[in-house]
Amino acid sequence: MLTYPVMRNRDHNDVAARESLVAEIEREVRETQVYLGKAHLDPRVLSAIRAVPRHAFLADSLRGRAYRNRPLSIGHGQTISQPYIVAVMTDALNLTRDQRVLEIGTGSGYQTAILAELAGRIFTIETVAALSEQAQAALAAQGYRNIRFRVGDGNAGWPEHAPYDAIIVTAAAAQMPGALIDQLAQGGRMVLPLGPQGGTQMLMRVDKDAVGRIVETAMLPVAFVPLVASG
Ligand code: SAH
Repeated sequence: MLTYPVMRNRDHNDVAARESLVAEIEREVRETQVYLGKAHLDPRVLSAIRAVPRHAFLADSLRGRAYRNRPLSIGHGQTISQPYIVAVMTDALNLTRDQRVLEIGTGSGYQTAILAELAGRIFTIETVAALSEQAQAALAAQGYRNIRFRVGDGNAGWPEHAPYDAIIVTAAAAQMPGALIDQLAQGGRMVLPLGPQGGTQMLMRVDKDAVGRIVETAMLPVAFVPLVASG
């Protein structure tokens, strides 16, 4: 008798919690507008944040904290990124429905879900097999059908499906990953944290123009787990 209203109530709270998370992200964007060069993110990105249940990508014990604007542990020494960072990186990718996206660092799959809300086809690579499997299960449970998964080293990209309109790297690269730049389409863009672990990392945007010229723009100081180098 109690189950039904309790479940409904919890679902309602999740929707309210996501709305206040969006408000929190918008506030932090305004506070960091000097870096971002804008005071507001694309409303489509905020709609994707509203649409994706972040709690579904976390262990049960962390679900109560799912809608705080904080990174959280996902095991294996890795973290689900802070929602503000997910929103800022996604916004910088300028995604449209017809685009192909490569993601390095599937992790929990939360960022993958946001990408799948906004673009056409998502290709995502994760080095820790157990994380990839959990993410695949969580994303399938949410009904996403436009994602391809690979377990391996993302430094090499996924040349079979290149070129990509957008590439997102969710772990900090020590230097610019050349293979990923090669796999960017002309007119495409990559967003990645660049710099040593524990040192100064910068969120970078890399644009490849219509004739293949590369333009790098520093966006924001950040703190990410390292992109594991290929061994
Ligand atoms: N977007 C994820 C972030 C996870 S943290 C989320 O929000 O949940 C970064 C992830 O990158 C980790 O899961 C880590 O295992 C993975 N990673 C690190 N180096 C990698 C590499 N060389 N190739 C692929 N994945 C890598």
